[in-house]
Amino acid sequence: MGNREFKCKAIRKALVLLMTAVMLTTILGCTPKKATLASANLDFDNNPTSNILFAPEGDAVLPAKTEQRALISFAGDTCLSSMQGSSAFNSVYDAEGAEYFLSGVKDIFANDDYTVVNLEAPFTTATARADKGPAEDDKGNPIAFWFKAPLEYVEILKLGSVEACNLANNHILDYGNAGRQETEKTLADAEIDFFIWNTTLVKEVNGIKIGFFGFSFDSDAANIKQIIDQLKAEGAETIVAYFHDGIEGTYQPSSSQKNAAYAAIDNGAAAVIMSHPHVIQGTEEYNGAFIAWSLGNFCYGGHNNPNDKDSMIVQLEFVRSAEGITCTPKLIPCSITSTSGTNDYRPQLLEGTEAQRWQDKVDAM
Ligand SMILES: [Zn+2]
Repeated sequence: MGNREFKCKAIRKALVLLMTAVMLTTILGCTPKKATLASANLDFDNNPTSNILFAPEGDAVLPAKTEQRALISFAGDTCLSSMQGSSAFNSVYDAEGAEYFLSGVKDIFANDDYTVVNLEAPFTTATARADKGPAEDDKGNPIAFWFKAPLEYVEILKLGSVEACNLANNHILDYGNAGRQETEKTLADAEIDFFIWNTTLVKEVNGIKIGFFGFSFDSDAANIKQIIDQLKAEGAETIVAYFHDGIEGTYQPSSSQKNAAYAAIDNGAAAVIMSHPHVIQGTEEYNGAFIAWSLGNFCYGGHNNPNDKDSMIVQLEFVRSAEGITCTPKLIPCSITSTSGTNDYRPQLLEGTEAQRWQDKVDAM
């Protein structure tokens, strides 16, 4: 054994001892730090920015921003069903598959942080319809409507990158409580969140705890205050109401819509989203909060060719700053169909002159 080789071995031995000592010190002496690191890692999926604190220096792939931001998309009436007696929507599902329906808007939904739609028909196998009176008038025209979708149609939402549903609307009980319960189970099994009447949702998105709630017509101020207080108690830092209200086919908000929206904001909501009128309505800023009066139909199986096919996606960007959490809205012009002259149940983004026409219409509301 040469002298040089011996020296190398000795140095290596010393290094191993030193490294072992350093590792032991790290493990034994820095337990609190390790716990912090572990909890930050657990948080990573929902909170990428918080991990910047623990990343090695000089890592080129790190985002430059350290503030918390959450981009949430909202779309309108999503009725994955034709009316009773029609299988038009189901035929398209059989021919095109689940991914087809939201493929025209998936780029928007896949690139936000969370997507919420109003689910206007239950996922259910139930056959007993809720009592809504006669289905047709004396002349055979339909006057009451029942909607339901097969359970597997939840894949439409899943593949379209929808993460949550408002269920507070006038069709979720079309097949009674059995239909509603089956819908809730189907969504839960698919890991899609929901909120309905007194069932609230608090979702942490990129470190911001956002509270969601919904009412369908029954949104009096006392109910609204109670549910907002409940959301705050559950840890919500900012709150969005999704109301189902208004008069079908009208372009101006009703007094009922206004009462609900203003009550929500007076009690602390940062934004109010609405649907039900089947057409889009304008927006309003009220006491520093945002209102979208109606997002209109979205992926809508309830009509195969409505006259007005305009739809709206609203994106709310929440940013945490020193002053608190700000909410900035953005409107995205859409159509309920990608084919003019009919409803192909495939919402599409509007571009060019069609987007301008849409914008002019919203500006004039
Ligand atoms: Zn409705």
